[in-house]
Amino acid sequence: MSRIRKSVEAMQGYVPGEQPKDPEILKLNTNENPYPPSPKVAEALVGASERFRLYPDPVCMKLREAIAELHGVTVDQVIAGNGSDETLALCTRAFVENNGSIGWLEPSYSLYPILSDIADVETRPVPLTPDFKWAVPDEFESDLFFLTNPNAPTGMMVEKGTLLAFCQRFPGVVVIDEAYADFAPDNCMDLVDQVDNLIVMRTFSKSYGLAGLRVGYAVGAPKLIEAMYKIKDSYNLNLLTQLAAEAAIRDDAYKRATADKIMATRERTAAALRERGWHLEDSHTNFLWAKPPAPATAAQVFAALRKQKIVVRYFPAPATSAFIRITIGTDAQMDRFLAALT
Ligand code: PMP
Repeated sequence: MSRIRKSVEAMQGYVPGEQPKDPEILKLNTNENPYPPSPKVAEALVGASERFRLYPDPVCMKLREAIAELHGVTVDQVIAGNGSDETLALCTRAFVENNGSIGWLEPSYSLYPILSDIADVETRPVPLTPDFKWAVPDEFESDLFFLTNPNAPTGMMVEKGTLLAFCQRFPGVVVIDEAYADFAPDNCMDLVDQVDNLIVMRTFSKSYGLAGLRVGYAVGAPKLIEAMYKIKDSYNLNLLTQLAAEAAIRDDAYKRATADKIMATRERTAAALRERGWHLEDSHTNFLWAKPPAPATAAQVFAALRKQKIVVRYFPAPATSAFIRITIGTDAQMDRFLAALT
């Protein structure tokens, strides 16, 4: 007899993008920032080891104050997590009954189905149209709904009015995962004060260049945030991460400048690909969702790039298999990528 819980035995674990060891490999596969974080981050960590013997602040108050200030919300509307992956998981534990259901858009962030399998509840994926547009039926319901906006892996955005109307008619909790919002012209943060069933999520892993420290946050109605607090690990964010994230968020000008640089490189790279006959949707993220011109297939291009030590992301499922996802690096890195295609 297996000692493993049946639902765990049956499920697949999450497969993160490859983290290659070869330093010559150009990594354009996991949407990391090609630039270092604000220099204020390193300054904030000087002397921190003197405090290692003490537990960190269990409620991350200073970091939450900085986040609340940035978004013009109150501290009780904010929770910080060990990556937004943790805050996403907290939502499945706080807002879904044992016999409940979780919905999400497909294709989108591939962690959502895994979180749903871990919760061992009914899964209700909602497909986008074949050209990746919003198509959630008016009568669709679930306890919790995850949507990424701008979406990954497509880089496309759903209009804010559509999302507000969805929250207003949806009976459960809606999570708008805004991991890429700093690369987009608009975001939904102001909606958290208009509806009481919405959580907007952000991460420090992309625009802030802190993927290695693991920190993200959620903003929503105090009642929802309070529920997440009840069930989180006592000390879910370590001391170094709290100090680094607070310094990073207080240096908004640095983040803005870095994100702007990445967006300029994104547009230049997109134009170069279109010139070569690739099909691309407009991206509002730090990656491109791109379909090579026939007769080349996405799978072939992925493999050919890999041979030249360039790693992008390829999702072989039918809805996504015609495209590759290319993280935007520095200008020099994108030049190497474009040269490799020829
Ligand atoms: N949401 C989306 C849409 C993402 O693409 C990612 C990055 N894989 C995350 C959340 C996770 O971010 P974090 O590093 O904060 O856990």
